[in-house]
Amino acid sequence: MKGAIERFIRDARRVMVITHVAPDGDAIGSLLGLGWALRWLGEEYTLACADPVPKGFTYLPGSEAIVTRPKGEYDLVISLDCGDLERLGAAYDESLAGLPIINIDHHVTNTHFGTVNWADTGAASTAEMVLDLLESLHVPLDSDIALCLLNGIVTDTRGFRTPNTTPRTMRAALKLMGAGAQLPEITDHIFNRRPFSAICLWAKALNGVQLDGRIIWSQITRAMRQECAFSENGDVLSLPKGDAGLVNFLGTTDEADVAIVFVEKDDGRIEVNMRAVPGVDISAVALDLGGGGHPQAAGCTLHGDLNETQEKVLSAVKEAIKDQVQ
Ligand code: 5GP
Ligand code: MN
Repeated sequence: MKGAIERFIRDARRVMVITHVAPDGDAIGSLLGLGWALRWLGEEYTLACADPVPKGFTYLPGSEAIVTRPKGEYDLVISLDCGDLERLGAAYDESLAGLPIINIDHHVTNTHFGTVNWADTGAASTAEMVLDLLESLHVPLDSDIALCLLNGIVTDTRGFRTPNTTPRTMRAALKLMGAGAQLPEITDHIFNRRPFSAICLWAKALNGVQLDGRIIWSQITRAMRQECAFSENGDVLSLPKGDAGLVNFLGTTDEADVAIVFVEKDDGRIEVNMRAVPGVDISAVALDLGGGGHPQAAGCTLHGDLNETQEKVLSAVKEAIKDQVQ
């Protein structure tokens, strides 16, 4: 698998590397880590993401070079941290259709849309997979690459706390720290910064929180975001989504197995952010609803009225978890 990917990369003249819309720290970290490696290899490449880099990740070296749309001619596409083609958004435009795609991802819901598919669900983050690839390509780790990739691992394990954190994850983190990545700098950027607009939003959303059986849920309307001056993609945070990280907080509720935050987007679509406790898997229901994710962290974006969407999702999740062990 990695051999085929190495050949594609070495044979390519111009590589387009794309990560998913609403990018998180693994998306941006993997993109930049691979970008620095391609530079070392002497490849011509562009890094793209349909949505802007969240402000919380602009501290990563090279982030200013990420574009939202491809320009020019390419002969290879690499997709990072993305479970399906649609999630590449507008960065994957018609000029790229027909080119070979290398799909490097760790989502259990990955649809194997690539020419070469390396979907490793045992990896806690795509950054870990990029690290493996760089080692196969004999790219030396410098502190820039290490910082970007460790940012990916720390994001997707929420600071080495999620069930997908394995000895392999820790070994990868150890290597990256050994190469000069500063773990406290990363954790500070990811976990210790929140603007008042996010606190304002939490206050409003917590006001309407509901515990419905084993599901705790809340909603963030457009009006709430306007009152708090919080933009829909949470671009003031290292969190890419409009829930300002609230779903992680709701997920700590003892009485709940699943937490959901519904966010009304500017275009009228409803962003559904979900978390489940270990032992409960919400990835399949997210996939059924047209989204995807991991067993304990998944989501989807749906068209329709906020209340109707909430009812639809809540009943689908209830059905999905009713036979699952808690
Ligand atoms: P988060 O809540 O951290 O943004 O997302 C958790 C996981 O769910 C991520 O791995 C992400 O890939 C997946 N996810 C969240 N929202 C969507 C969505 O709208 N579509 C798809 N396909 N996956 C999503
Ligand atoms: Mn990831």
